[in-house]
Amino acid sequence: MGNGFAEIYGEYLRDESRQVGTAESIIFPKTEEEIAASVRECNLKNISVTTQGAKTGLAASAVPFGGHIINLSRMNKVTGARYDGKQDRFFLKVQPGVLLTEIRKYLINKSFITEGWDEESLKTLEHMDKNQWFYSTDPTEASASIGGIAACNASGAKSFRYGSAREHIESIRVVLTDGDVLSLKRGQSIAANGIFELVTESGKIFSGKLPKYKMPAVSKNTSGYYNKPDMDMIDLFIGSDGTLGIISEIEIELNRTQQSDWGVTIFMPDEDKALDLVRALRGERISGMSEPMKLRPSAIEFFSHEALKMLKLQQKTNPAFSSVQEIQQGYHTAIFIEIEGDSDDEIWEGIEELGDVIVMLGGKEEYTWVANNAAGLEKLHSFRHACPECVNMQIDEAKKTDSRITKLGTDMSVPDERLKEVMKMYNEDIERNNLHAVIFGHVGNNHLHVNIIPRNMDEYKRGKDLFLVWAEKIAAMGGAVSAEHGVGKLKVPFLQKMYSKDELDEMRNLKKVFDPKQLLNRGAIFAYEGVDA
Ligand SMILES: Cc1cc2nc3c(=O)[nH]c(=O)nc-3n(C[C@H](O)[C@H](O)[C@H](O)COP(=O)(O)OP(=O)(O)OC[C@H]3O[C@@H](n4cnc5c(N)ncnc54)[C@H](O)[C@@H]3O)c2cc1C
Repeated sequence: MGNGFAEIYGEYLRDESRQVGTAESIIFPKTEEEIAASVRECNLKNISVTTQGAKTGLAASAVPFGGHIINLSRMNKVTGARYDGKQDRFFLKVQPGVLLTEIRKYLINKSFITEGWDEESLKTLEHMDKNQWFYSTDPTEASASIGGIAACNASGAKSFRYGSAREHIESIRVVLTDGDVLSLKRGQSIAANGIFELVTESGKIFSGKLPKYKMPAVSKNTSGYYNKPDMDMIDLFIGSDGTLGIISEIEIELNRTQQSDWGVTIFMPDEDKALDLVRALRGERISGMSEPMKLRPSAIEFFSHEALKMLKLQQKTNPAFSSVQEIQQGYHTAIFIEIEGDSDDEIWEGIEELGDVIVMLGGKEEYTWVANNAAGLEKLHSFRHACPECVNMQIDEAKKTDSRITKLGTDMSVPDERLKEVMKMYNEDIERNNLHAVIFGHVGNNHLHVNIIPRNMDEYKRGKDLFLVWAEKIAAMGGAVSAEHGVGKLKVPFLQKMYSKDELDEMRNLKKVFDPKQLLNRGAIFAYEGVDA
């Protein structure tokens, strides 16, 4: 397949990061056995392997650095369901290539393609008819695959309440480089004092020592391998960026849908007050409050002043954004929250409490948008989604000045107490470097996407340099250089700011236990000589 590969399979050489790689061959397996046969052959011939889900990743993780591609888009079936009546827990078993959008469609319509399902799974569907369930992991991009979501430990806005993908994965099957399969169920493969032992389906034992590095104390982190001395070993493979094995089956847990789901966008007079509101919404008792708020949102999102200005301009000039609600004068910074509850009355109580805090912080209730039904909430979601879309449009414009310009967006998180400090750092550094940037994202988790919009190549280079400076400063604050997109290939230099060489060597040694020839996803997480991503 060597000749003309790029002409025929060009679309498989890139992902949403818009980086482009190279490869010599590709397969689209339909079964776990086909994956196993393919990796076994590559292992024997020393050919590197890049696994692909839906290629929506933003860290170039699915972009191949030569070798063979295993694209899982044809392993796209939901293969079973399970209900644990004692604990009222509901699970779906899926192949890795199933798309998030498909899962949502099945759950809303309560209609699955059940061909090949066992008796227990079919019975389980009867239970589903009586109750509403949803899959809480929502990495914004609904065309992502469940395998990719697991491999990146993706999250998104509602992770503030529900946690990242990891918290909703009950079991996985992983094909290792020699074609052997590990079946891991949560709670059944626990390391003890940093020592682990895993047995494959053929009886082969993988054992070793876990690294000593400590992960940052942040609520969102996908910077290198998950590592704790007494960890569940399933967590090593979740978020491992396709570098340890190929996930061939996943059991995801669903959550019960709540009766009411409202959205509120609050426009605050300045950024500092907006951040105080965030702190209050997370349950901190801020100055002026006699007790912490009772309201517990499921998502807390942020829009900087520049992000609002960008959206306001688009509203005036771009018909594609006409459905987005008009931003009134008198805004500065906005916070969007989503609130779920058992009834509208319950949510309304929370909204009244919120109104008092907004006024206390100098905000005005008339600058607040409340959506109390699905259509209204959808409008607020499109307002949020318009941010990355506008950024992409501006990057495309900048690209016309120099084709080397690509998206420059951060994905770093810090501990709660560092929120204001990190915002100050972003604002001051952007101003000092005379750059233009919009900031938005998951402020509830202190996880903001700072998007630098370069006007030329010089600004692009300075922005890129600044990201490396921020990676170092954020690591020093006890933060994570990647909170939800994974390290992939683009953030390898950032990870080097977060962990020492020895710690990264320990991480690499862990990889070598499962992938001794280091053939899986070359260039991801670990530097690969000769390639500048
Ligand atoms: C507009 C936009 C917004 C986004 N917003 C968010 C957000 O809010 N939150 C968030 O978390 N993410 C976000 N993302 C990125 C998100 O992480 C990815 O969209 C998704 O999780 C990756 O899934 P995928 O199937 O596309 O994987 P790919 O991009 O194909 O692969 C990603 C990585 O997973 C590996 N991989 C894929 N499948 C497997 C498998 N079966 N076994 C082993 N390794 C595998 C690949 O090798 C690669 O390392 C956004 C992306 C876009 C384009």
